[in-house]
Formats: sequence, C-alpha cells, structure tokens
Amino acid sequence: MRSALVSEFRLVQNNMLDEENVNKKLFWYSATYSMVNRVMNFDYNPSLQFLHFVLQTSYNAYRHRTSQIAKGDITITLPSDFLDRTAHLIGEIANAIESNEPFYDILQTLSNLIYLTSGNGYYQSLKGIVVAPRLIMFYRQKIDSDIWHWCINCSNWPDAPVSYTERQFKKGSKIGKLCKECLANEGAEICIEHEYSHE
Ligand SMILES: [Zn+2]
Repeated sequence: MRSALVSEFRLVQNNMLDEENVNKKLFWYSATYSMVNRVMNFDYNPSLQFLHFVLQTSYNAYRHRTSQIAKGDITITLPSDFLDRTAHLIGEIANAIESNEPFYDILQTLSNLIYLTSGNGYYQSLKGIVVAPRLIMFYRQKIDSDIWHWCINCSNWPDAPVSYTERQFKKGSKIGKLCKECLANEGAEICIEHEYSHE
C-alpha cells in the first residue's frame, strides 16, 4: 500500500508540473488526499492522518483562493509558481515515505505555503517576510566544473550557450562544492533564486 502511495504521489507531481491550467493542477492535487484516505482504511497510522489533514486543508484553501481570483477578486494574489512548489513538495513527501523517513518538515513548508492564501499571510509577504521558504532548490553546475550555483544573478551562473547540468536538492543538503558568490549573495539577501523549471 505504501508503494502505491509513493507512485501515485509521483504521478501527481509530474502531472501538476506538466499541466498549465490552475484548475487542472488542482484536480491532480486532490488525488493525493483521496489516495491517503484509501491507504488509511487498510493501514491506519497517525502520521498518515496528519498528512491527509494538511493535504485536504491546503487543497480547500487553494481552491477557495483561486476561485476568488477567477471571480475577479485580486485583493490577495498568489506567487505564479505556488502550485509547482506544491508539486515538488508532493515529490519530497513521496521520497520520505519511500525511505521510511519523517515528512513533518515538508508538511510545515506546505502549511507555510497555504498561509500565503490567507489575508494575514499575504500581508506578511507584502512586508517582505519570507512566509514560505523554498525547501527544494534548483542548482546548476557547468559541465567542466564541480561547483553548484543557485542564484541567477551570480556572475558565473551557468546558462546557455554554456553546457550545464541542473539538479534539484533540498535546501541545505550536503551536495559538494557551493559557489562562493552565490553564498555571498544569499548572505547579503540579494540572491535571485533560480525558479523551478519543468525540464
Ligand atoms: Zn554562483
């Protein structure tokens, strides 16, 4: 049952990223908590129930906010990539379940993202407070180098026509050599983080 949940979550992640339409992204997202419900009927455990609660609550909050925006109420807007960030978190939950690791920190990040759909969360973000820090980051490395970059405003940011490899890692994970300029940018809070790509 656990492996069914893992493969279902990865399917949802890929479809959410491939889909352009917000409602269709949300449709895929709703499959996550339905699947958790089905697994719980055979194999109840408290952390799965917590997972179900956060997924369903976040779905309802997203659904409410996006329908308000569709009706023309743009008092509160959402970051353009918020559902893609959600999709990546679903992938991280799948990885955690697969390797039998706790996923509470991922649910916390998901909850922080939901907070952005509320008036108060939106207000905090307007004040410049990082309400929902990125858990997953995209890193790039030039083909002939072993240094990872993540700020697009780094003078050595690998981009076409230079050949590079791109990978996603959990922020703060030990991935080898980090670019000193990217680190300095981050320290000075001027790093423009690389947006999620669909590649
Ligand atoms: Zn750099």
